[in-house]
Amino acid sequence: MASEIPCPSVIIVGGGIAGLTSAIAMRRAGFKVTVYEKYSFSGEIGAAVAFGRQPVNYLQSLGLDLDRVKCCPCTDMQILDGRTLDLLNSHDNSSSYAFFRPDLQQEMRYLAEQVDSTGQPCRLVEFAAVSRIDPEKGIVYFEDGSQDAADLIIAADGVHSKAMDLVLGVACPAKPSDTTATRIAVPVAKLKENPFARIMASVPGRTTFSVRPGGGAYLLGYWCHGFEYFNIVLYRYGVEDVSAIAMDETRGETTREDIRVAMNQFHPDLGTVCEHLLDVLPLWRLHTRDPVSRYTRGRLVVIGDAAHAMLSVRAMPSNSLLRVIADRGIRLGSQHFGQGANSAILDAAALGTLFADMTVVSAKEISWRLRLYDQIRSPRVSATQIWSEAPVFEQKWQKIDEIKKILPETELPQDVEHLLMWLQEYDVVQDCREKLQEQIGKPGDNCATGLGKFK
Ligand SMILES: Cc1cc2nc3c(=O)[nH]c(=O)nc-3n(C[C@H](O)[C@H](O)[C@H](O)COP(=O)(O)OP(=O)(O)OC[C@H]3O[C@@H](n4cnc5c(N)ncnc54)[C@H](O)[C@@H]3O)c2cc1C
Repeated sequence: MASEIPCPSVIIVGGGIAGLTSAIAMRRAGFKVTVYEKYSFSGEIGAAVAFGRQPVNYLQSLGLDLDRVKCCPCTDMQILDGRTLDLLNSHDNSSSYAFFRPDLQQEMRYLAEQVDSTGQPCRLVEFAAVSRIDPEKGIVYFEDGSQDAADLIIAADGVHSKAMDLVLGVACPAKPSDTTATRIAVPVAKLKENPFARIMASVPGRTTFSVRPGGGAYLLGYWCHGFEYFNIVLYRYGVEDVSAIAMDETRGETTREDIRVAMNQFHPDLGTVCEHLLDVLPLWRLHTRDPVSRYTRGRLVVIGDAAHAMLSVRAMPSNSLLRVIADRGIRLGSQHFGQGANSAILDAAALGTLFADMTVVSAKEISWRLRLYDQIRSPRVSATQIWSEAPVFEQKWQKIDEIKKILPETELPQDVEHLLMWLQEYDVVQDCREKLQEQIGKPGDNCATGLGKFK
């Protein structure tokens, strides 16, 4: 009689987008999943996030229901001169999908915990702060002195995680950038009759950027929560002094008055949005991490912002350059680079694929699959980080030689339009399946012992 293969276990530290996506992916791969979250699982902030087609395809393959999650498919994107409101550029944006973060979190929790045939329901434990990880033994230690162990540990504990210190053997904290963001989702019903809405929120599905003359700030607006909410983000970067948040802080607070002052150089109609803002608003300083060649050690893998925090958007071209670009008929493809959460979902997809159907659960087996994860994820993620750092349009192409060194065998996009396609059309699941098959066919001590189904 065939012996039963023991069910492997995984501990996931952090219940954000990276943690919950990997939880669902790993339960489907046959793992017993426990997620430890420092705070509550219902604490996601009321703002939106946009994903490309491949991450959305993957989330759908995990059961995500676009209607239930009130997803807003995007249609087009326009860039306005924030002072004159002249249209500077517009292009198709139909490969993006916008989500209200609390909706997404609720859906992910549902998919993680539901009882069905896709694997054992995940155990989600809130208010459990992990203080230390032993990557070789696969043990996590909690602030209250308790501990837990698993075959695999996924650190998805966000930008200030220390897990990469364990992987690299040196302290490598995230670096503060000069970009801050204030974001809020406003009910569309409230915006009616407001001049701001006529400019930024007149066409459902349309994403609009309004660029402040002279640079330093821009407003981003797009729809979410079944077109009932409009998500507004004010980005400030470069010389702009945002004194409400220190350089080393990730999250702080600003006031409606501060936003009103920042909006002074925009067209007065855009400033009318301040009427609908709260007196006190959350403020983020964006942080980044340097590209690295590995995210794994022993039984530990680090994913999401904990591994590769990157800018969601970088300096826009000046309005004068935007005009030159428009005059030459060039379409801008990727103003809102926004690859942080996109990359986190692809990390989870890679893990779910590489760890599906293991027939042996041993440290050696886990170790070679994690090495494969590094080989697949590191070059593309590093390239995405480098591109996210570069101010849009002006300098992206100066980085191409740097990126060629990381991805020598890949045909790289040569302009902004193709860059977005390069990012959005990459199928990480297919890539992982192919590389897994290649390895399984190879003799040698780092090869898998075969594919099979858990009993
Ligand atoms: C203004 C703005 C706009 C953005 N827009 C986009 C966009 O449109 N598209 C996109 O792809 N990306 C976007 N991003 C980036 C995206 O939000 C992040 O990349 C993504 O949310 C990271 O998810 P994560 O799960 O890795 O980290 P987090 O969301 O930070 O989750 C980490 C979790 O770990 C928990 N945790 C921390 N420490 C511990 C501990 N010791 N023990 C247990 N739990 C712990 C935290 O409480 C948290 O819940 C944007 C970012 C910003 C700031």
